[in-house]
Amino acid sequence: MEGIAKKFDIKEIREDFPVLHQEINGKPLIYFDNAATTQKPKPVIEALMGYYIGYNSNIHRGIHTLAEKATNAFEESRKAVQKFINADEAEEIIFTYGTTDSINLVAATFGRAFIGKDDEIIISAMEHHSNIVPWQMLCEQKEAKLKIIPINGKGELILEEFEKLLTNRTKLVSVAHVSNALGTINPIDRIISKAHEVGAKVLIDGAQASAHIEVDVKKLKADFYSFSAHKLFGPTGTGILYGKRKLLESIPPYRGGGEMIKEVTFEKTSYNDIPYKFEAGTPNIADVVALKTAIEYVNELGKRNIEVYEHELLQHATSLLSEIPEVKLIGTADNKTSVISFIVEGLHHLDIGMMLDAKGIAVRTGHHCAQPLMNEFGIEGTVRISLSIYNTKEEIDVFVDALKSIISKWK
Ligand code: PLP
Repeated sequence: MEGIAKKFDIKEIREDFPVLHQEINGKPLIYFDNAATTQKPKPVIEALMGYYIGYNSNIHRGIHTLAEKATNAFEESRKAVQKFINADEAEEIIFTYGTTDSINLVAATFGRAFIGKDDEIIISAMEHHSNIVPWQMLCEQKEAKLKIIPINGKGELILEEFEKLLTNRTKLVSVAHVSNALGTINPIDRIISKAHEVGAKVLIDGAQASAHIEVDVKKLKADFYSFSAHKLFGPTGTGILYGKRKLLESIPPYRGGGEMIKEVTFEKTSYNDIPYKFEAGTPNIADVVALKTAIEYVNELGKRNIEVYEHELLQHATSLLSEIPEVKLIGTADNKTSVISFIVEGLHHLDIGMMLDAKGIAVRTGHHCAQPLMNEFGIEGTVRISLSIYNTKEEIDVFVDALKSIISKWK
């Protein structure tokens, strides 16, 4: 991989994240739980404060100056998202409350309109619960069938098996771009083109991709793409659903209420144009506005630089962990982001997580909202470290030493 550009200065980046500069249990915080949520840089926090201090107002309906300012900021954020994922039009960007909400939106609308009895939906064995349960609920309601793409021992999708699952009853394929529990980057370009061959639509769960790798919905030809602002250095409670214009226009609205209508009478309601048709009620204005700043922050660092840096962290951590005989890595795909899951023979993942926390190191333990995946590996859960732009090799060294000392003391 090419080297990192000069502006990717780790010291400067760390300075931007106030939360990192604290002690936990008497030790400097090492935050390795970025797949759960990322920390927020000062400009994002300032954008939030700026909105509330300077121009808090409801959007779209007001004609006064503050309302106009808030509306403009909200719509500028939509354009920033459009560019960030290379969508054709800003109207193809719907603001939701998170990836979970985005997926539920597709299940409730596309599912309502286009999935019928005996139709088939395909997901994969490595999905987050939020990309499993909405489809199970839909299948139950519609008497449709849920099919699962299997994985190999490295935690990669078996594409030949996927192709065998596709039939002319396949209406939707919904898979993660990147697995939250394993870090596997899935070959979604191939999945999308194969699914399109049988006329199925494809939803990509990009929750774990948007902060780490390039996302180009036009190049991918994704029908739907979803992600969460809070995993992209933005605020919680805001998500994105991208959908192709024609598709969004062809599906019914999600929630009913203000903003999503053109005209309401007691006899009949006509619905607004996209994206507003899917944005009933007062949205999460402040957080959407601050999302734009988060995107600008990522753009300034450069996705390519982020990828290169995080790959270095991944390699460093993987090679150190591989040297510990008691550690078994779960998920060793060839193409991965900076997520490492592991178990330690004879030690429970929860105990390891608590002992690491006592040393100021925040990791995630458990099933990572991917219980079926854990079942595939025959385990209950793992310890997961997920690394981001502000993590360092020195932090990884401290973590590995801490893990070794836990293992030697408690095994
Ligand atoms: N999909 C994946 C792959 C995830 O990792 C997560 C969250 O961890 C989600 C979906 C759900 O995201 P949210 O909780 O922001 O809705």
